Amino acid sequence: MPGYLNIGWAKRFSSIAAKIRLLRIRRLYNKGKWEAARKYALNEINCPFNNQLSRSIIIRSYWNESKWGRVISLAEKWPELDTNGYKVRAIEKNAFKTATGKYLEDLTSREPEPVSFAQSSWNETDLLSNWYQEDTRVWLRHPWGWTYWDMPENYDIKHTHPSLLELVMETLLRPFLSQVKSIKTEKRPDGKEISLSYSGGADSSAAALLMPEETLLAYHERSFYSMINHENQHQLFQVWNDIKKRSILTVPSNHELIRTHHQKPIGFSTDYAAGSHLILLADHLDIGHIAFGTPIDNTWLNKGLEYRDFSLSNHWIYWSNRFAHAGLKLELPINHISEAGALRICEQSSLNESINSCLRGKNGQGCGRCWKCFHKNGPLGRPVDPTSREIQTFLMKRPLRSAQHALWAIQVQEFEHLVEHLAPYLKEDLSWWVQIYEPGLKLISEQLREIIKTNTMKYLSMMDQPYLLESVNLFAPD
Ligand SMILES: [Zn+2]
Repeated sequence: MPGYLNIGWAKRFSSIAAKIRLLRIRRLYNKGKWEAARKYALNEINCPFNNQLSRSIIIRSYWNESKWGRVISLAEKWPELDTNGYKVRAIEKNAFKTATGKYLEDLTSREPEPVSFAQSSWNETDLLSNWYQEDTRVWLRHPWGWTYWDMPENYDIKHTHPSLLELVMETLLRPFLSQVKSIKTEKRPDGKEISLSYSGGADSSAAALLMPEETLLAYHERSFYSMINHENQHQLFQVWNDIKKRSILTVPSNHELIRTHHQKPIGFSTDYAAGSHLILLADHLDIGHIAFGTPIDNTWLNKGLEYRDFSLSNHWIYWSNRFAHAGLKLELPINHISEAGALRICEQSSLNESINSCLRGKNGQGCGRCWKCFHKNGPLGRPVDPTSREIQTFLMKRPLRSAQHALWAIQVQEFEHLVEHLAPYLKEDLSWWVQIYEPGLKLISEQLREIIKTNTMKYLSMMDQPYLLESVNLFAPD
């Protein structure tokens, strides 16, 4: 028999054998036997047939075991396998260990606990008994661990109305725990003061500029190491101080970690979790209005794609009543303008140079390569590289993310030639997208409506009727 045939058979045999070995590894993996799957996969990392899949299984098995340090070092070793962003996500999961700048391997991520109440367990029958305070730190025991807020001096949770504590629990735990959806407390009498959950980005800065000057601006600060740095925000707060003589109240908290107990990335549990610090402060500061900088894109448009009558939506009816029970008016002071309108307001203000929504920027500058830079910084004339991988990926997505705004951003930056596949959506002039949608003003409480209308008209013009906004229906299936 000629030699080449022997080689052919040998190759064929070893590829079949390799497939059988891989099948066994996959079976163990699919049964959740991470350690055993990994043990066999380790034998395969140099096998020409199985090297990629076995390495991927090793990374994923460590991921499933929450061994973030291992995930990070292997994702660094085999970057070609990290298509799911395991490294970045593991760094976030690993938050507390990386505060020192080092990865500690094989320790599961640990969230801090109170000193005196560490033994207290979750009480599912008396939900409000899960609140504690140690010095200025307020603790919430939840079924998966502890969450805290660092409150101002003299704050006392005992003087906080139960309906406020109940509302905070709903904003944080609602997606994961049905018990928090039922109201058991008495209604809180309405407070007086006006506040805004202020993030320092363009939307909430526009909201701050439209609201009365006495509005309390309060920033939720992620209290742990993550990919987000707060540098740009703190520079902006300094400018508020210098130019407008207003200080921003900052409340550090780790509540964005709650979602990570449910296989979700760090972030807000619900739209209103971003205001949990203000809800907690409501009695301390006699707050009666809590505002969020939510533009048309997320109110009158559904996912930025399709018009809906937001005033009749379940979301608005539910949450505005829910806040009212806690003596709070839920205010959406930029629901009548788009993200584009918000940008134009910021652009005309003395804060413009210091407002930058890019989360990866440094020294007050954007990175120029992320999606935020594309649709927030680019339209302000700041440098953007539309060929960056992230921007290209977003532009190719179907449906386009925050579609109406993204189309406008393409048009103002004259990037049409880069997105020929979007040509049918770019035929009409989209300048109406920057104008005021008057019906939105009705959602704002009477107390604030006139001043917000007057202030908005200093920056933007009214949208003509019939409103083009109401005909938006992008990327609808044929
Ligand atoms: Zn950026």
